[in-house]
Amino acid sequence: MLHLKTKTLLVLSAIGISLVVAILISSHLCPEALGRSRVKALDNDARARLDAAVRDMRKRGIQPRINSAFRSRAEQRAIYRCARSRRCRARRGIYGAKRPGTSMHEAGLAVDIGGVSAGHRRRRLTPRGRQVVRIMRRHGFKWRYGLKDPAHFELSPRLAGYRTEKAAIRAGQRRWAPKSRARRRASRRA
Ligand SMILES: [Zn+2]
Repeated sequence: MLHLKTKTLLVLSAIGISLVVAILISSHLCPEALGRSRVKALDNDARARLDAAVRDMRKRGIQPRINSAFRSRAEQRAIYRCARSRRCRARRGIYGAKRPGTSMHEAGLAVDIGGVSAGHRRRRLTPRGRQVVRIMRRHGFKWRYGLKDPAHFELSPRLAGYRTEKAAIRAGQRRWAPKSRARRRASRRA
């Protein structure tokens, strides 16, 4: 009897452990989890404004899907490369990407929101998209490229306290990787 109980307990704990591992792995790979950590890496002002905008959307029954927020230089490079191939663009649902070193995503001042537009040949705003654009604008975000890149919203660097786009990008990248930078510096000194 006791033996059976121990066996059951062992099996149950094995199931429990594998469940936890599976959840940990999936949350690590899941793009939404990645999206969340990249939202955290946004510029403070942009994040506060986005939070307020998302609250407004939810009040109106809109659950915004944030597809992209802050990007490291390496991530921007990968997206830029993909955006140059029609196939890769279509597969990943990318409208376009700026050259690495020039995107406001690298400054943590831009976010991409899904479901704003519909249609391929003749793109148009969806009713929900129209509301998203209006709410994002009210919170200071420009719909900078319109239907050319309908998912993209960005805060002007000046509004966030930076003199230029370049300065905002430098600050964003510095904020993101202070540890790896410190490590590089230490290894250079050694
Ligand atoms: Zn974008």
